[in-house]
Amino acid sequence: MSEKLSNRLLILGAGPAGYTAAIYAARAGLAPRVVAGLQPGGQLTITTEVENFPGFAEPIQGPWLMDQMQAQAVHVGAEITQDVITAVDLAARPFRCVGDSGAVYLADSLVIATGAQARWLGIPGERELSGFGVSACATCDGFFYRGRDVAVVGGGNSATEEALYLSNLARHVTLIHRRDSLRAEKILQARLFAKPNVTVLWDTAVEEVLPDSSGRVPVARALRLRNRKTGAPSELPVHGVFIAIGHDPATALFRGQIAMDQEGYIETVPGSTRTSVPGVFAAGDVQDKTFRQAVTAAGTGCMAALEAEKFMAEHGAEIAHGAP
Ligand code: NAP
Repeated sequence: MSEKLSNRLLILGAGPAGYTAAIYAARAGLAPRVVAGLQPGGQLTITTEVENFPGFAEPIQGPWLMDQMQAQAVHVGAEITQDVITAVDLAARPFRCVGDSGAVYLADSLVIATGAQARWLGIPGERELSGFGVSACATCDGFFYRGRDVAVVGGGNSATEEALYLSNLARHVTLIHRRDSLRAEKILQARLFAKPNVTVLWDTAVEEVLPDSSGRVPVARALRLRNRKTGAPSELPVHGVFIAIGHDPATALFRGQIAMDQEGYIETVPGSTRTSVPGVFAAGDVQDKTFRQAVTAAGTGCMAALEAEKFMAEHGAEIAHGAP
């Protein structure tokens, strides 16, 4: 028989938003459960140095910061469960979530903090060579390209940071961007342009990751490129390519049950984490495509816990009687 776990507040996702919601909810006596999902710690676990999270005079490591948030949540009484939710039912309270483990989670109130995931180009060779020259995480895989030639695709903060990180390991880094200017912060751009071993290819689309099939398993050997202004094709030999073109919100589970925008971000009432479903709150990158920072995710996690607490105080009688 499947295990049934009931909580007043269930938090889905264990990034800065989820952990902060857990810390505030636990301290408010809501005994929250966090279901950590596929990537406990969230995107910060695939980041290196964080120097913009307030409270730390020196740069800190992303994974360390997430370990601290988890420990803090546990310390104040939150329960962390390693499971991946595969189905949700938000039609009536208690809300019902089913885990990959077979466990059924019931909750009077829900905080969705499932974050966002890396986007891929969808070009030939990308999927086939994933892990064999294609990566979406320089921090995870950059080590394998010490002294070699790599490319980074994208023009935002992520791409620029990945290129900067890789420039300390690789022999040469080519940043490939589809337009003629980066959208990354100016300070990051200035750091990038100052690197002697970084070249930027402007107005360039990557059309294919080409394999070297001479060994035991195929590995990336080059990128097939096209200049978007002139149409001229070219080939860039690389040992590795890092795709850093943004993220998609992890909201497939909730489709059709809660209001979302066209890109799948959960809609929240401005100035609030309230969603279209009373009792369901959304925090962090799953509802934020503007700021997408650890600190803003944490801020909305705090808001979600406070709003859930208020919701349960106001709806306590209905919840106790199981009314929808
Ligand atoms: P982003 O800002 O959305 O940038 C994505 C980049 O990829 C853009 O330059 C975009 O090109 C390009 N791109 C998107 N789809 C593409 C495609 N199919 N083919 C080629 N290029 C494509 O994403 P991000 O850099 O991951 O950053 C996300 C958010 O996190 C941002 O708000 C960012 O400021 C924040 N962030 C902050 C930090 C930090 O504070 N240190 C670090 C990382 C991220 P276009 O420019 O032409 O649209």
